[in-house]
Amino acid sequence: MHANIVLGKFMTFDFETCTLIVGGGPSGSTLARKLSKNNITNILIEKNDNYDKPCGGGIKSIVYEEFDIPKEIEFRRITKFDLFSPNKKVSVDLTRTPISIVLRKDFDKLNRKLAQKAGTELLFSRFLKFERKDEFVYSYIKIDNETKIIKSLYLVGADGVTSTVRKQLTQPTQEKILTIYSNIPNKDIDKCEFYFGEKFAPNEYAWVFPHGDKLSVGSVYKEGIDTETLFKNFKNKVAPNDNTKGKGFYIPTWNKNSLLYEDKVFLLGDAAGQVLPFSYEGIYYVMKSALVLADAIIENKPENYEINWNKKYKKRFKFFKTMQKIFLSSTFMTDKMIAFFQNEKLQQRGLQYWEGTAQPLSFIQTVLKITKHLIKN
Ligand SMILES: Cc1cc2nc3c(=O)[nH]c(=O)nc-3n(C[C@H](O)[C@H](O)[C@H](O)COP(=O)(O)OP(=O)(O)OC[C@H]3O[C@@H](n4cnc5c(N)ncnc54)[C@H](O)[C@@H]3O)c2cc1C
Repeated sequence: MHANIVLGKFMTFDFETCTLIVGGGPSGSTLARKLSKNNITNILIEKNDNYDKPCGGGIKSIVYEEFDIPKEIEFRRITKFDLFSPNKKVSVDLTRTPISIVLRKDFDKLNRKLAQKAGTELLFSRFLKFERKDEFVYSYIKIDNETKIIKSLYLVGADGVTSTVRKQLTQPTQEKILTIYSNIPNKDIDKCEFYFGEKFAPNEYAWVFPHGDKLSVGSVYKEGIDTETLFKNFKNKVAPNDNTKGKGFYIPTWNKNSLLYEDKVFLLGDAAGQVLPFSYEGIYYVMKSALVLADAIIENKPENYEINWNKKYKKRFKFFKTMQKIFLSSTFMTDKMIAFFQNEKLQQRGLQYWEGTAQPLSFIQTVLKITKHLIKN
């Protein structure tokens, strides 16, 4: 709704809506679309329609049915991945739950269009800051060099790992970890590869994904290590003779105490750290989180966002965090993880946890089960 109403002496506004969503990535667009479908007015602002988010673009292929997204956006369907530890290798068949690869620029544009089609007002503009006054939030945005004000009941920061909205809240920074990646031209692959171990990505992993006519090669690094040498080692292994430079970008690390809501302002997606630990799958989980937030806004019960997110995802996120701590703690354990995947029964179990068809275990149950397998094998 457009307006230009004077509120008291100083507060004027140009737009008015129930929910202003900052950030037209997968989380913001999914939220906008669901709100529109439920007749909740919302404005989605995105600073760059051509933004190509640094990302492997790998998603569980169930995303199309679950979110009613046209399958044509899929660039490649992957039915196999290889896992490498320093001394072992295993190939995993994914025919039952393939990974879909999307190109983020196209995928993000499509999701914004779907939201718009459902009734969302999409503005290409940059969010600057907000103020709370008289039960409303007033947000300052920049459109074509002009500053405008949007009045809303709620504000949602879905503006990524370095969220500007978050900077004004009591937990201003999101915990995060560095990735170095490069897109190597004229190379292709028909599977995904994951490399574990000290040589390429100590306590984390390195990946190779198909990416358009390029190869997406990257690695996740904990703080304080020589990322330059490690990334060089990895690139020499998977793409020798290539001179493409590595670029850095952050992935959020989930924390059970991460801030989700503070007095009419929500955080969503990377801005709230909703990326699955260990696998670092962000796209699917930030979209699922958007549905939980949409319900809380539709019901006008902000507190339900955190309550219902915890009910649905906390146990699962904690389980993957525990698995990461155990299996990526040393070369010995990384080799053991691959050995477990070489066992058909354990591989199926592992896949079920990843798909979400098996219930995650508690910390104690996880440690006991792994210890039992270690003793047996
Ligand atoms: C190198 C790398 C590889 C990855 N690979 C995968 C993968 O293969 N699979 C997977 O599931 N996840 C992957 N991830 C994680 C995934 O990319 C993120 O979790 C996901 O993009 C989060 O979505 P989002 O909508 O919360 O935020 P984003 O995708 O970051 O979207 C935020 C949006 O907000 C906009 N914005 C920011 N500031 C403002 C502002 N001030 N005003 C207006 N708009 C603004 C941005 O332009 C952007 O469009 C990867 C991450 C990295 C860094």
